[in-house]
Amino acid sequence: MEGWVSMPKLELHAHLNGSISDSTLLELARPLGDHGVIDFSQVEHVILKNDRSLSEVFKLFDLIHILTTDHKSVTRITKEVVEDFASENVVYLELRTTPKKNDSRGMSKRSYMEAVLEGLRAVSSVDVAFIPYSEEEPRNISNPLHSQSNDKCCENTRKKIFVRLLLSIDRRETTEAAMETVMLALELRRFGVVGIDLSGNPVVGEWITFLPALKFAREQGLYITLHCGEVPNSKEIHDILDFLPQRIGHACFFEEEHWRKLKSSKIPVEICLTSNIRTLSVPTIDAHHFVDLYNEKHPLVLCTDDSGVFSTSLSNEYKIAASSFGLGKKEMFELSKNAIEFIFADNVVKKELRNFFNSAAKNLE
Ligand code: 5GP
Repeated sequence: MEGWVSMPKLELHAHLNGSISDSTLLELARPLGDHGVIDFSQVEHVILKNDRSLSEVFKLFDLIHILTTDHKSVTRITKEVVEDFASENVVYLELRTTPKKNDSRGMSKRSYMEAVLEGLRAVSSVDVAFIPYSEEEPRNISNPLHSQSNDKCCENTRKKIFVRLLLSIDRRETTEAAMETVMLALELRRFGVVGIDLSGNPVVGEWITFLPALKFAREQGLYITLHCGEVPNSKEIHDILDFLPQRIGHACFFEEEHWRKLKSSKIPVEICLTSNIRTLSVPTIDAHHFVDLYNEKHPLVLCTDDSGVFSTSLSNEYKIAASSFGLGKKEMFELSKNAIEFIFADNVVKKELRNFFNSAAKNLE
């Protein structure tokens, strides 16, 4: 496992509330149990349960949201999730989350996002670069992925992680609520919000509801990534591919026509192996579409989806891909590096990441 932990990686499909560790969830649940808001032992059982169908996963998210939707918890989980990814050498993280309105906690979508940004600022174990360079003071950016605590000395170099944010639209939302999320994303661009994601229970809602907000987001220069093909829904898959998002997530229930369209459009796919297996979206790892897409050199990136909910990590996803599909260290390194081309950050970040990977390549045996 150590070899996969030390390999530099990019995470492009991670849901904030799905990435919380079990220990933090249980810690957040305990006081709610003490106050009679929840039945702690039942919640503990649900959190520690391992195998879940897709519909059970969405029930779990409703529970997680009860535990996390106050500003302090949002800040805490953001900080912890970024630190967890950084600790396994994720050098670029696109973290997605659904801005939530919760009147009983005095929370608006905006204040939810402010709590997320507070969490990024609170990270202490690693330097977090989330403000786009165009918004920053002029500075020396020649030292990729390490920041120096003073100009002369190189001994105190600290690890650095780039973080960019995607705002998710939940499929339960209305057109107006989706538009509110897009407006918020535009307002928060200067704090590293780069795009919009459409997620939430795939059997709920109609794609057409979100189209006006997604079109507007794209016109305004936000990047779009869409969950696509998590359940059989041929018409929606066609419509999503015709929309030409910059990336899609999953692509499990694709038919021949969908594959043809995807491959000719070269839309990169965010692959979440453990998530797909656990939710029975693909029958076995050997049958996973990773193999076909990889062999055809279709743009791909390995991701976790929900490292907490599915008890995985990005290093573990790399390990699974390497052992299941017979890929060596060099191929996995290339797979990781190639993802730089699909990130939603600007060219300066891409250049830093390429330089970093080129230096790291020298350490591969
Ligand atoms: P949050 O947006 O609250 O930070 O992260 C959890 C949310 O992400 C879930 O409530 C759900 O809307 C979305 N999500 C997490 N995992 C998945 C997934 O595998 N598929 C889909 N469609 N949505 C997901």
